[in-house]
Amino acid sequence: MSADSPGSTGNKVNLGELATTVLKGVGPSLAEKLQRLDLYCIQDLLLHLPYRYQDRTRVVPIGSLVPGIEALIVGTVEITDVVYRRKRSMLCRISDGSGFITLRFFYFSGKQQQRLSRGTRISCFGEVRQGPNSLEIIHPEYEFIADDQASVSSDSLTPFYPATEGVQQLTLRKLITQAIKKYLPALLEILPEKICTELNLASLQDALLAVHQPEKNVNTEQLMLGIHPLQRRLSFEELLAHQLSLKALLKKKKLKNAPAITGTGDLVKQFINKLGFTLTGAQSKVIHEIENDLRRPHPMQRLVQGDVGCGKTIIAAAAALSLVESGYQAVIMAPTELLCEQHYKNFSDWMIPLGINCVALQGRLNTADKKSALQDIASGKANIIIGTHALFQSGVVYKNPGLVIVDEQHRFGVHQRLALLEKGEENNFLPHQLIMTATPIPRTLAQTLYADLDVSVIDELPPGRKPVKTAVISATRRGEIVKNIEQACKAGRQAYWVCPLIEESEALQLQTATDTEAALKEALPDLRIAMVHGRLAGDKKESIMRSFNNHDTDLLVATTVVEVGVDVPNASMMIIEHSERLGLSQLHQLRGRVGRGSDEATCVLLYQAPLSEIAKDRLNTMRETNDGFEIARKDLEIRGPGEMFGTRQTGLPRFRIADLMRDQVLLPQVQQAARSIEEEFPATIQPLLKRWLRRAGDYNTV
Ligand code: ADP
Ligand code: MG
Repeated sequence: MSADSPGSTGNKVNLGELATTVLKGVGPSLAEKLQRLDLYCIQDLLLHLPYRYQDRTRVVPIGSLVPGIEALIVGTVEITDVVYRRKRSMLCRISDGSGFITLRFFYFSGKQQQRLSRGTRISCFGEVRQGPNSLEIIHPEYEFIADDQASVSSDSLTPFYPATEGVQQLTLRKLITQAIKKYLPALLEILPEKICTELNLASLQDALLAVHQPEKNVNTEQLMLGIHPLQRRLSFEELLAHQLSLKALLKKKKLKNAPAITGTGDLVKQFINKLGFTLTGAQSKVIHEIENDLRRPHPMQRLVQGDVGCGKTIIAAAAALSLVESGYQAVIMAPTELLCEQHYKNFSDWMIPLGINCVALQGRLNTADKKSALQDIASGKANIIIGTHALFQSGVVYKNPGLVIVDEQHRFGVHQRLALLEKGEENNFLPHQLIMTATPIPRTLAQTLYADLDVSVIDELPPGRKPVKTAVISATRRGEIVKNIEQACKAGRQAYWVCPLIEESEALQLQTATDTEAALKEALPDLRIAMVHGRLAGDKKESIMRSFNNHDTDLLVATTVVEVGVDVPNASMMIIEHSERLGLSQLHQLRGRVGRGSDEATCVLLYQAPLSEIAKDRLNTMRETNDGFEIARKDLEIRGPGEMFGTRQTGLPRFRIADLMRDQVLLPQVQQAARSIEEEFPATIQPLLKRWLRRAGDYNTV
């Protein structure tokens, strides 16, 4: 039997152990890049599912293109030129008789330019946008058309996979097709037959095949929405695996002890007295609830929900101090480097006068700083440790962590939070846990995700806050906005100009931000303008933020790195580009960066016409309300295909296919199946978890 035949792999091969290098075209270097996508083995590839589909089943006449749509076009090259306008780029104009369009490349080779010579026929796919002189596609996928080629369109929808730098869409498509052909038949069914029959579930293999390679006559609408029964079959199994793993973790945790605090609460009192403002009633109430939990010898597991700007950081600091007073360490995990730096600064300002040591642990520390931080953490010299994901990497050893605080939980998966907790675990001893989030989560979901958590709500903002005035304005009126910024900044206020994710590519997002910064500097020569983005080194980022914080910068151009937690009260104006592309909770988070001081704040949501109905609805909601709970409710109501990335924005754990909002209807079945498996088929639990939850390997699943 040839190696290509599925039979030769038999049922003996464990696809969960089979390295991706068995595929043609995958060497050690590509295999390593695949790992960045958490793709370690063939099974991972088979479960790497499209997050959307593109319709390349028909060629669209260039003359009928409109901005905002994705289209397959065919045309002849008229001219290809390299231009230097702020940044070197290659422009290639193609036409098909009905009209012309420009293809724009920021990265290209001389050879590429040569091959795109006049008269060459190509097919392209990409998103059409309005460029300076004509419609454009930036970095389209393109292919040369042979003279005798019959068709360029595809028979079925084209799957679109989560990709990363160095692993292109096309590569993934080819690898996954190869994996399906060779290995899908060897993928074992793990779910007990009884459950499959009861719930009338299709086989795993059929479901995967249908999702990767949708048939021609598939219900496209369902598929695009992610609610096709065969997709649901997969979501079900994934949710079930998560549910089982949570239950196992909870079972383990229930048996643990935790350090009961014994201090007088003096440190907390000193801290609060030095704050320069009075706590809100809601803050005092929650601090009190937390203190009660901490006095018990069992792990606190409390979720603090409170809208952006309600003052959750103070709560974290008070809780941390309670543990420090009793001789334990407190660990605070922030979702971004920027937020981590800001917390570190705030905590240092608060703690140093009290004689308490704070240490920051980030991915980007240099070797010497990291070594000294690790030493202080291990020796106990560090009382409060603030960090990013770096906190739960191997090599970090805590002396005696008594409390783990996870800020902006919506950015982390359930398992990441539990992994950090396990770091502090020792002989039946578990730290207390405090989780803070600005994203209210509907009850049904909360039960599934946080069955283990008590909930405190901060339903009050610090006094004197005025709601942020929100305007929705077409990007064509940018000139007026620039004038308003000038006025505001000259009157001593500060502003953010946010350029969010436009394409999947971080490079392009950066490009937009860079262009915007240059344009603003040109238009506003008197203002001090700086830019911050995710790719800057940590110290650079920190110094830019510090300069904004100290009011040495008037206008900060930023990518969405400022979304979470950034706190500069004097900033009272925010412009958000391409607001039509963002989800409600992300817009709400971003807007929460202003309106923190006493000045009346404004938020301008710039949009690029034409607006979809969903986008219109979202922007109207933003204009009408500042209430985070109301916005979350609305978010659920209008959530549609445009938000298939929902999990990232709403902060529920990241699944491969399931989406807790979308797939809520499955939850009762999932819970019931989980019980049945625990009772009747416990042997299937491990394989299920291994299949669905084995990620990066840096945290335990059970
Ligand atoms: P979030 O809940 O979004 O994390 P922060 O903790 O960042 O909010 O607090 C937002 C701002 O409000 C900070 O500048 C903080 O110092 C300030 N603040 C917090 N509590 C109060 C209060 N009781 N009175 C006045 N200002 C407060
Ligand atoms: Mg915060």
